[in-house]
Amino acid sequence: MESGKRIKIAQLLKSEPGISTLVKGWVRTKRGNKNVAFVALNDGSTVNNIQIVFDMTRFTEEQLKPVTTGACIAVEGILTASPGGGQSVEISAEQLLVYGTADSDTYPLQKKGHSMEFLREIGHLRPRTNTFGCVFRIRHAMAFAIHKFFNDKGFFYLHTPIVTASDAEGAGAMFQVTTLDLNNIPRDENNKIDFTQDFFGRASNLTVSGQLEGELGAMALGEIYTFGPTFRAENSNTPRHLAEFWMIEPEMAFYEIKDNMDLAEEFIKYLVKYAIDNCSDDLKFLNDMFDKELLERLQSVVETDFVRLSYTEGVEILMNSGVKFEFPVYWGADLQSEHERYLVEKHFRRPVILTDYPKEIKAFYMKQNEDGKTVRAMDVLFPKIGEIIGGSQREESLEKLEARIEEMGMEKDGMWWYLDTRRFGTAPHSGFGLGFERLLLFVTGMSNIRDVIPFPRTPKNAEF
Ligand code: ATP
Ligand code: MN
Repeated sequence: MESGKRIKIAQLLKSEPGISTLVKGWVRTKRGNKNVAFVALNDGSTVNNIQIVFDMTRFTEEQLKPVTTGACIAVEGILTASPGGGQSVEISAEQLLVYGTADSDTYPLQKKGHSMEFLREIGHLRPRTNTFGCVFRIRHAMAFAIHKFFNDKGFFYLHTPIVTASDAEGAGAMFQVTTLDLNNIPRDENNKIDFTQDFFGRASNLTVSGQLEGELGAMALGEIYTFGPTFRAENSNTPRHLAEFWMIEPEMAFYEIKDNMDLAEEFIKYLVKYAIDNCSDDLKFLNDMFDKELLERLQSVVETDFVRLSYTEGVEILMNSGVKFEFPVYWGADLQSEHERYLVEKHFRRPVILTDYPKEIKAFYMKQNEDGKTVRAMDVLFPKIGEIIGGSQREESLEKLEARIEEMGMEKDGMWWYLDTRRFGTAPHSGFGLGFERLLLFVTGMSNIRDVIPFPRTPKNAEF
């Protein structure tokens, strides 16, 4: 068989009958009788299988025996119009090559309908299921659309560091990075760990956010975005948190909070519409199998304006709702997912952008409002998820920023490089962070964040 002739199934299913072809893929099912065998083959290019018909006058039973669920085969044959329902074309097989067998007694994906929990335990094989094939193809499409959206707008993709000595973001607990011998840690005269002997000459960590470095880029290139992995060592075992997740962080010079909200809303709508337009087979499968309202929900987000309201108004609505929340609501409380979802799902029935949060529950770099109590933060809240985006206008005044850093008891010395953006040619600017996996939860309708990333990193879970 000539390897160059291989055609992917996604393309074959759109082709006219009559051509001779070569397909390669993994067997989903085999059925048939003495005269004919039907094999459903999938190669990952689409959720749809191609049917391969083996006329048993041309093949022996011995030849077909290793063709079982999970086996990998190559087939040469003629693409023919399919008389059966469900597919327009099938392959009438002429030659068969078995690359790899899959013992039906031990292959874990023998049957359909495994639980998501079980599939997490066989994370190395779950990409071969229809569900995870759909999710990972959509994940790819969304990553591509993110780059396209920003590139078309003239934003530059800025690579911010993964290892950093900056611990100023305060966005979450950090993983330490070190080459020190943990069995023999060097100490200074005060018995403190001597990080001058460490690889970077100082204590360093995995990044929790690329924002601070992103701001440096925005103050030079105008409009940038980052798209990379971030790490948070919080021990939170929720369906919305990972220890390693991907974040998209645009940062824009001369944007004020309203421009920031407009961009966030346009961005999410663009991505959801891109999925509807380009991932229809995968979305239809997920809609039919898991979440009958998925397509409807996606369409409605594209079509409706997001509600914009202040934190203070949001808290009033929650306090007057008469609902008994697990976590109490009051002005000053950090909103929990249950509160966010009440506003989105019950009260407004559409996405909400909440602004002007109390400064105590937000980061030091957010622009301070005139009232002295709130900052120009904006969180985008989504159905089923809660917070999907967190962002703000940034404080551009050196004086106010330094005062806030002091007020919060933070270490100013290590921040000199960040403060230089305010010292030299400062300007109003804004940005936000979209959690990539939170977006994927929404777009795929999956309910656990572990099921939208190929290799989830969560507490006690990093084997492969
Ligand atoms: P949350 O309150 O939901 O824990 P956060 O306020 O700590 O989130 P930010 O620091 O604002 O999160 O991060 C920006 C975005 O990154 C969030 O809006 C969310 O989409 C995503 N995100 C944050 N933490 C995680 C995590 N542990 N796993 C996956 N995505 C996350
Ligand atoms: Mn946030």
